[in-house]
Amino acid sequence: MSSNIPIHSPHCVVGVIGGGQLGRMIALAARRMGVRTVIWTGGLEAPAVECADEVIDKPFDDPAALKDFCSRVTVSTVEFENIPCETLEEVAKCTGLYPSPNAICITQNREREKNFLRENNIPHTWYAVISSASDLATALRELNGPGVLKTADFGYDGKGQVKLEGHEDAAEIWAAFESPRAVLEAWVPFEKELSVMAARGADGVTVTYDPAENRHRHRMLDISIVPARISPAVALEAAAIARRVAEALDYRGILGVEFFLKTDGSLLVNEIAPRPHNSGHHTLDACVTSQFAQQLRAVIGLPLGSTRLLTPVVMLNLLGDIWRDETTPPDWLPLFKDGEAILHLYGKRRAIGRRKMGHANFIGTTAADALSRAEAMKALWLH
Ligand code: AMP
Repeated sequence: MSSNIPIHSPHCVVGVIGGGQLGRMIALAARRMGVRTVIWTGGLEAPAVECADEVIDKPFDDPAALKDFCSRVTVSTVEFENIPCETLEEVAKCTGLYPSPNAICITQNREREKNFLRENNIPHTWYAVISSASDLATALRELNGPGVLKTADFGYDGKGQVKLEGHEDAAEIWAAFESPRAVLEAWVPFEKELSVMAARGADGVTVTYDPAENRHRHRMLDISIVPARISPAVALEAAAIARRVAEALDYRGILGVEFFLKTDGSLLVNEIAPRPHNSGHHTLDACVTSQFAQQLRAVIGLPLGSTRLLTPVVMLNLLGDIWRDETTPPDWLPLFKDGEAILHLYGKRRAIGRRKMGHANFIGTTAADALSRAEAMKALWLH
């Protein structure tokens, strides 16, 4: 380690931009390591607030908040990517920000992300950049089949997306689409969705976690199965692509790479998340080093921890739609009766719509065993 890398000590203060559940789980991992955290978030109801040592409750474009944040932290990171690039640049100048502003700015915007994949020869879905109805008409003609129109900025969990069959009226679709820039992607008839969490340390060493097999509900992650039911060759290829992404971004920290696995066994990158990812939550209970502890190691400048999977596991997302009403959770007793299911709640007071309220990790002797228990539990709460 070079001497300018801050060494882990109880005096190290990690600044986290964003106060959602990922920030909360970073703060909890930091507490276990004796590292202090300062969370910068808009709103004191944010899930990370009650777990952080200090909180700055100001908008991300507030210059006084920036100065305050910089004066309190040793080094910093983000827990969500939709932060103005200018703010990220300023933070990087005053404290050191990992991942870098460049990596975050590329991956926060679908147009820049797709261009990055193309420029680096990383396999991805066919796409076209759209900024007008006539761009859309041309792209739909070229695509000549089903696709999905996605907003370039601020899109996640299927938000800002419209599925198209290909024969729609481009002018009508564009008029209703509330975004000045978008990408049109080919619809991929995938066999499975996978993701790989990768971490790259201060010294450039990159490690990957076993791929997760992800199932979605309402275009949001529902279940992650680890180990994924894929061939060793596909697992190796997914890890190799995630590593290439991390290296091409000159990344420091943890990142999630989401893939489509096609029926012919080939992989396409769908999205990159420059932070811990929902499909890495199983690492909290099933891996030697959780994705949150790994993020802290990378950001602080410590050697990375082992990514070894200790047991098969299934992660079930707990969305607001299983709550009985906005403030009444489902009956958790069956989950506690299953002695190998671990509940993680994010402390959100109101279960509005499909809000991510928590997740549960089902440890199993096999992935199939964990999956059947997770599915039975979900059915109980959803019916
Ligand atoms: P995204 O927010 O881009 O990750 O999209 C959310 C989910 O929508 C994905 O995980 C897929 O299940 C589905 N999806 C998005 N884009 C495509 C595509 N081009 N082809 C097929 N399914 C897609």
